[in-house]
Parts: sequence; structure tokens; C-alpha cells
Amino acid sequence: MSTPITLVVKIGTSSLTNTDTGHLALSTIASLVETLTALQRTGYRIILVSSGAVGVGCARLGLTEPPRTISMKQAVAAVGQGRLMRVYDDLFTSLEQPIAQVLLSRSDLVQRSRYVNSYRTFRQLLQLGVIPIVNENDTVAVDELKFGDNDTLSALVASLVGADWLFLLTDVDRLYSADPRYHPDAEPIGLVDQVGQLAALQVEAGDRGSDWGTGGMATKIEAARIAANAGVRTVITEGQQPPNITKILQGESLGTQFAPQPRPSNARKRWIAHSLIPAGKLYLDDGAVDAICQAGKSLLAAGVIEIEGEFQQRDAVQLCNASGQEIARGIVNYNYIELQKIQGHRSDEIPDILGYEGAETIVHRDNLALHAE
Ligand code: GLU
Repeated sequence: MSTPITLVVKIGTSSLTNTDTGHLALSTIASLVETLTALQRTGYRIILVSSGAVGVGCARLGLTEPPRTISMKQAVAAVGQGRLMRVYDDLFTSLEQPIAQVLLSRSDLVQRSRYVNSYRTFRQLLQLGVIPIVNENDTVAVDELKFGDNDTLSALVASLVGADWLFLLTDVDRLYSADPRYHPDAEPIGLVDQVGQLAALQVEAGDRGSDWGTGGMATKIEAARIAANAGVRTVITEGQQPPNITKILQGESLGTQFAPQPRPSNARKRWIAHSLIPAGKLYLDDGAVDAICQAGKSLLAAGVIEIEGEFQQRDAVQLCNASGQEIARGIVNYNYIELQKIQGHRSDEIPDILGYEGAETIVHRDNLALHAE
């Protein structure tokens, strides 16, 4: 294989634990470990995103209910994460496959320097033939800066490393047109190959996920959207059958596949589009939308018709057309108070209005990522 193919595989608490007893589903984990090790040996580069810290911590402490308070959840995750890694290390070590623990917080991906650093660490680990095992750093994560669920985390990791595939392993074999538990006639969905189709996909139920994990189908579809936009082929398939990963890579049509968009060539724009958390919205007139989307120009004050949110200079903002549909994201050169004063004005009027010289553009084109760019 010339360029190694990179896979991100995400497994959730519901697949890792036995729902009746809360104990680890050892045979599933062992099968996952065997599958990933075999793939690693045939030349794939692999990152495993594993939940389970909270579930395993609860089992260790004999708690019969998921933690309700943040401090309890963080404490329980601290107990569980170490045990989870020990199980993985025992199993991978018996196959002589080195692993690494990588705990990430949302802020690690928001700050450009930390984002680039995380990328370099992953690249180095993969070059060493290590399988990094990633989880959210639950013990220190603060509410406003959380991935919230490992589906989103895995999509952002796939985007960060420029993965080829993202496998979201879950407790159903694929996506259905409705929740098959309540609608026996629900149709299985094999392939989602257009962005529009993906956006329109409404999965009726199963949105809440299990009691112990956080995600559900809604977060999986959102993760697939992030990954597809970042050029990553995404598959939702059954966690209890890890060998299916190999079969899917060999071309079997198992699970639901989401076709990737052309991979965005510019890594910085990928970071702007997916990793930053928007702090506000700018609504643009048609002329500005065309200038940005068709002509690849920067956003000027004249094209801004309305703003929302108390964003600061250098924050990320969503750029929307007049009807509120998001068309791009970017890093803004003015805070919301300044922008309220200069919106709709020509750039050469800005110094007079504000009383000082500012940037000529509101969002420079280098800091602007179009949807599906
Ligand atoms: N990070 C959490 C854990 O390890 C899981 C988050 C999720 O369920 O997506 O328990």
C-alpha cells in the first residue's frame, strides 16, 4: 500500500458493556482488538475512539444509576478511564500491538496551536505503528467546552487527522427510515450519497442513546455530516460484530455508508469549519453571498445586514444568507459592538465611524470556510 489508509473507529458504551449486568462485554472487546490489530498489520493506520469511562467507573464503584451531577460524572470517569485502558492494554498486549491513551478536550481543538500539536502527536503515533485510543477528557471537561458525545469527538478526530474512513459502531446494524423497534416496516438505508440527503435525514427515535452513553442516532448523523464534509467516508454499523469493519473495507454493503465530499485541501479551513465553536451569526445580503460563494472574496461590512450574538474579535461566526441558511464559517475581525456600528457601510467609512483604523474586511477570505469546501 503506498499511502496508508487511516481509519477512525468509534465504539460506544452500549456496545462495550452488557446492558443487563453493566459488566464489560469482553468477547466484543476482544473481537474488536483482534480486528483492529489484524487491520493494523495489513497496513491500515487506526485510531480507536472509545467511550466507557463513565459506565466502567459506575460498575467499579457499584453504582446502579448513571451519575447526575457534573462532579460525580467527572469523578466516576476518572475511576473508569484507567480501568478501561487496562483492559485494552491487556488485550492488545497479548497480540503485541502497542496502544496509547489520548484524552482530548474541546479546547484542544479550538486553539489553533493545540490543534496543530494534537495533529502532530497523532501523526507520530500512527507512524510508530501505535493504535491511539481516544476519549474525551471527562475529568476536566467544562460544560461550555465539551464535545458532549464521542460521535462528535470521533468525527472531529477524523477531520483532524484527515482520515479516509470513520466507523461509528453502535447497537443497530444500520440506519432505518424510522425506529425499527417501534416501526417493523421501517426501511433500511444502505447509502447516503448527497449532502442534501444527509441534511434532510430525520431519524425518528433512538435519538437519546442509551442511559449510560450520551449519543444516539441524531448525534451519529451529525457526526457523519461533519466527517463527510471533511472528506471522510463514514459508516454506521453494528458494534457487536467488529469483523464487519474488515468486510466493509473489502466492499461488502453492510451498515449505512455516507459518501464523502471532496476532501477540503486547506487544513486551516477544515479547522475553521469543524473545530471552532461559533459565537455568533452574521446575516448577509445576496451580493455578499455571491461574492463569497462564487467569487471567493472576503466579507465586507457593506454586505452584513444583521448580526446575532456577543462575539469578540477573532471569534468564529456562522455566515448565513438573508433567510438564515448557513453558507460558511469564518473568523471575524471585529467584535459585535463594533460590527453593529459599521454593518452596511463601505470599508473606507470604518475609520470615521469607529474613530480608529481597523481591518478592511469583516472576515478575510483566508479565514473563511465555505460549506463543503
Ligand atoms: N466520554 C464518555 C465516557 O467515556 C462517553 C461519551 C459518549 O457516550 O459519547 O464514558
